[in-house]
Amino acid sequence: MKRIIATFVAVVMMIGGVFLFLNNRGDSKAEQQNASGKLRIVTTNSILEDMVHNVGQDRIDLYSIVQRGTDPHEYEPRPTDVSKSTEADILFHNGLNLETGGSGWFNKLVETAHKKFDRDVFAASAGVTAQHLTTNVKEEDPHAWLDLANGIKYVQTITKVMKEKDPKNASFYQLNSDQYVAKLQKLHATAQSQFLDIPEKQRLLVTSEGAFKYFAKAYHVTPAYIWEINTESQGTPEQMKSVLAKIDQSDVKSLFVETSVSPKSMNKVAKETGLKIYSKIFTDSLAKEGTTGDTYYTMMKWNLDKIHEGLTLQ
Ligand SMILES: [Zn+2]
Repeated sequence: MKRIIATFVAVVMMIGGVFLFLNNRGDSKAEQQNASGKLRIVTTNSILEDMVHNVGQDRIDLYSIVQRGTDPHEYEPRPTDVSKSTEADILFHNGLNLETGGSGWFNKLVETAHKKFDRDVFAASAGVTAQHLTTNVKEEDPHAWLDLANGIKYVQTITKVMKEKDPKNASFYQLNSDQYVAKLQKLHATAQSQFLDIPEKQRLLVTSEGAFKYFAKAYHVTPAYIWEINTESQGTPEQMKSVLAKIDQSDVKSLFVETSVSPKSMNKVAKETGLKIYSKIFTDSLAKEGTTGDTYYTMMKWNLDKIHEGLTLQ
């Protein structure tokens, strides 16, 4: 009888052992799929990517969709964009009508990736007071980040979402966020009076796209542009006529061209007016990594300094 019981116990233990072994194998496989255990975040563009990186640093997995130097208004997602978005815990987009070109490429991506707005998809611009297009007052102007005070709101919104999704790193995110915001705040304070030494008639900021509404309001320059938003036709005869008239009525000394648009139309304006394109500036994309303007802070600093230099030319 004792022998029977002993054999029974041994068999039970053996089965248990095999079961445990199989079960452990299953666990380690699941762990491998999310090996780092890090929060997986996808951003639509490089400006948001840099903001998220400042907050999360090495404790997150970060992927950004639209390549640097490319226009985020209209975009065709690649297979990697879809797979990264499907795996992500959070997707950040700008919102305010930025990623709506090409009949709404971002909405389509969210649907394909089986994600939901306000559950795993968040607009960094939530909390910003929107300005509207003059050609279509119902539509919001997306370029809110070009006012650093709005950029700070973006960072605060991003931080709040990251803390909620990943509470164990909440204090780490908050600390990084506070330090980063203080740095941006300092640049914003300087920028608010940076252009006031230039005569008002000379303070015309001429660019291809009308991306500088928020910037102009914050830093006291007057924006002039060829077309209002990249999703409309670019450089039509009427648009050219209108920008040339504005230049004619001003004492502006130079022109600017954005890194994420074709310089063709601005070259025409330069030829017509005899004004020089003083510098490239950054609007919808950061510079390529390792070059000047490859972070939100350095992009804004570059824009502020180059625009001031160009407007004060004699
Ligand atoms: Zn734009």
